[in-house]
Amino acid sequence: MSPDREGLMTTHRMINRRVAIAEMGKAGLAIVVFGTVACSDPGGSGTTATTTGTTPPTTAGPETTTTVATAPTTSSDTTTTGGAATGTAFHRVNLDFVSAYILYRGGEAALVDTGVDGSLDAITAGLGEIGLAWDAVGHVILTHKHPDHMGSVDAVMEQTPGATLYAGAPDIPEITVVMVPQPVSDGDSVFDLDIIETPGHTAGHICVLDSSAGILVAGDAMVGANGGVSGPEPAFAENMTVAIDSVRKLAGFTYEVALFGHGEPMLEGASAAVGVLAES
Ligand SMILES: [Zn+2]
Repeated sequence: MSPDREGLMTTHRMINRRVAIAEMGKAGLAIVVFGTVACSDPGGSGTTATTTGTTPPTTAGPETTTTVATAPTTSSDTTTTGGAATGTAFHRVNLDFVSAYILYRGGEAALVDTGVDGSLDAITAGLGEIGLAWDAVGHVILTHKHPDHMGSVDAVMEQTPGATLYAGAPDIPEITVVMVPQPVSDGDSVFDLDIIETPGHTAGHICVLDSSAGILVAGDAMVGANGGVSGPEPAFAENMTVAIDSVRKLAGFTYEVALFGHGEPMLEGASAAVGVLAES
């Protein structure tokens, strides 16, 4: 499946970048790229990409942490953005150190990840906040097998027994829940959401892309960083080399919004920022 580059022009952002190099303790060098969306500033001086003259690391090994950030975004515990033009919206269920996401349109919904064990009430409340109940949830997608993402699956499936559960095939043997997930892979579509295989963090890790709405649910393939994006956590990746390849793969798609398992959502210019991250 070739990366979807449609819409690249329409979602292009003029980004003014400043690159700062900072020491990050034992993690070594960190590149932090801040961008400012400058679409309403046609004559401004801030529309040309500039970088400081510091040479970035020649290799993006596990010792290097790269963070790409856009202009600061307002964040709240439950961030909802409308997809009026395309009909899809997302709702974040902030479970403190991890998040689950509800993608919904036309009174139907897909839940991506379920948080740790005991997250059912919070997800139920999240559905209520957008005027939905469990009977609207026909699809439950697990980005990967870790307990902070699939911990509440059994409780969730009890609430919506007619829903289908999905996960990446390599992770399924270790997803020990009552309902066996249906394997999904590149090219599959669930609730009009594209499945993207993104191994590395785990072998069966998947991301979910609504290409019409421009929303990527990244799971742990990348990490949110105060409105920006950072690479996968080396300490938690089964295979960091493969995980970095998956970031490059994600840079080949187009989306405005990126939603992470950990960290604040990136609400603007996400795929452009992932592109910068992938090149670093
Ligand atoms: Zn994980």
